[in-house]
Amino acid sequence: MKVVLPDSSELELADGASGLDAARAIGPKLAEQAVLARVDGTTRDLRLPLADGEHVQFLTTRDTEDPDALYALRHSTAHLLAEAVMRLHPGVKIAIGPPIADGFYYDFEFAEPISEADLDAIEEEIRREIAEGREWAREEVSREDAIARFEAEEQPYKVELARDADGDISLYTQGAFTDLCRGPHLQNAKPIKAVKLTSLAGAYWRGDERNTQLTRIYGTAFFSQADLDAHLERLEQARARDHRRLGLQLDLFHFDEHSPGSPLWHPKGMVLYNQLEAIRRRENGRRGYLEVKTPLIYDKALWVTSGHWEKFRENMFLIPGDTEDQTYGIKPMNCPGHMLLFGSQLRSYRDLPIRYAEAAPLHRNELAGTLHGLTRVRYVTQDDAHIFCTEEQIAAEVDGCIDYVKYLYGLFGLEPHAELSTRPDDRFGTDEQWDVAEGRLREALERHELRYVISEGEGTFYGPKIDLHMTDVIGRSWQMGTIQYDMQMPARFGLTYMGPDNREHMPLVVHRALYGSFERFIGILVEHYAGSFPFWLSPVQVRVIPVGEGHRDAAEALRDRLDTEGYRVEVDDRDDTLGKRIRDAELEKVPFVIVYGDRESDDALAVRERGGEQSTISLDDLLSRFGSLAAEADPA
Ligand SMILES: [Zn+2]
Ligand SMILES: [Zn+2]
Repeated sequence: MKVVLPDSSELELADGASGLDAARAIGPKLAEQAVLARVDGTTRDLRLPLADGEHVQFLTTRDTEDPDALYALRHSTAHLLAEAVMRLHPGVKIAIGPPIADGFYYDFEFAEPISEADLDAIEEEIRREIAEGREWAREEVSREDAIARFEAEEQPYKVELARDADGDISLYTQGAFTDLCRGPHLQNAKPIKAVKLTSLAGAYWRGDERNTQLTRIYGTAFFSQADLDAHLERLEQARARDHRRLGLQLDLFHFDEHSPGSPLWHPKGMVLYNQLEAIRRRENGRRGYLEVKTPLIYDKALWVTSGHWEKFRENMFLIPGDTEDQTYGIKPMNCPGHMLLFGSQLRSYRDLPIRYAEAAPLHRNELAGTLHGLTRVRYVTQDDAHIFCTEEQIAAEVDGCIDYVKYLYGLFGLEPHAELSTRPDDRFGTDEQWDVAEGRLREALERHELRYVISEGEGTFYGPKIDLHMTDVIGRSWQMGTIQYDMQMPARFGLTYMGPDNREHMPLVVHRALYGSFERFIGILVEHYAGSFPFWLSPVQVRVIPVGEGHRDAAEALRDRLDTEGYRVEVDDRDDTLGKRIRDAELEKVPFVIVYGDRESDDALAVRERGGEQSTISLDDLLSRFGSLAAEADPA
């Protein structure tokens, strides 16, 4: 048989030859350094056979930044972690240990709980394994053999996984440790040059809080120490910006165990929230949206009509209805209410487009284990809107949404890029409808010169969509808003309008949320700015610090004056030293601090701008500076 190499040359191999055989046929150096084969675009363990005509590329220890190569490296390190833990903690039960973005984890059930302090010893043990040398061997076994093996080893989680696995079951063994695993894995442990166990967390077996809580050990691994060092440096920067930490430090919000995934907004956090809300209202008004308000709960019948009962019920909170056999669902999305609004009157083509906007609280029953600060919540408020329009109007409406996104993100110095998600396997509608819809979204992205990638098969069941992402100052990509094209929900609700031909036509619908949600957007802004919000957005814009008791009245008079001008000002007249109060203002990232003492007056104020030195400036000049900074909230 022959396989095709990346330079298009063909390589003659014996039938049944493995990836490793192919690498050996090319050269001993490659055979030694190969970690993985990429065959027709998907990765394959080197130990598996190749087939005639396949296109084969080898990933080696030099592909230090290739996600697939790192994936195999980290997955292999996860197996070393499990081996190390079993050596140090005999009797431990092992669950699953996959690679994840930036690292890997493994879940264990320990007889005695362990702490962060135990991680060093485990990490040491992994290094010892690497120094001793480990080779991975792969074997395929029957389900019965796999179950019998893990029953004998008293590993109930592995038994359960073997029972539930579909298709062939493969085992990987290194040293005295065997794991149930699909692979792919490294040939041996030599390429693992740097390992770090990073943290411990609780995790329920299969993510379900009704199951046993396991201990998850997180770690990461790299092909070089320098890569690990750079990664740890990035983590440190991310920690300094973590919105959960800054949210407490800046007194913006907190979470309470009585309502997981639902932020309790503090007054200062509400300032941020209301600033975003003011922009939403202002821009919606300018762009022809109509504000509406629809119910929070609907009976099951509505969710059946909308399709949510079939496709989204797992994520809905249900409550008993008025009678025993009635159930209400708390809304996870606004769409059905807006469909009812549209359908409540006879519509003419002259009424279209109609753009309904609503920022109602929504609830989504996300698994407790997946909740993460403001970026993954159960109580979520979208800056939602549904645009009902004709075929002829939809291109202009999508254009309008993209224009809006560019304006909105521009306010925060965020550069959006997009992901165009196309038809999934499980979908409604004909191929012709999808061709048209996908084409329209693609054309809109191109008209606006928005950078985008295509995500094949990731559209919703009712239509294709554009997801908006931004990359923050430390290079992390965040998903934010979405613009979705809907060919289905208007049909499910039987919506029509009277066309110029005096016949009924179905409107198309664009669902769009541009911040995405207030919660997530604020979480991302906190990290993006590292808490140093621009002046116009800052919860406290100015803090006046009287030097002594005798300056308090003057400080309060100044506060009142600035307050009248529309600024958010506080006086800090606590008994602490001047230095301490200035430091606190810096920690709280207040944009302007005015120190008021004997020498100060309206003609000469001692002003410290965040990150700068103290300077003397008149009140008039200060007000004009504030005026231009405040205007950034609404650039012309
Ligand atoms: Zn594995
Ligand atoms: Zn919607």
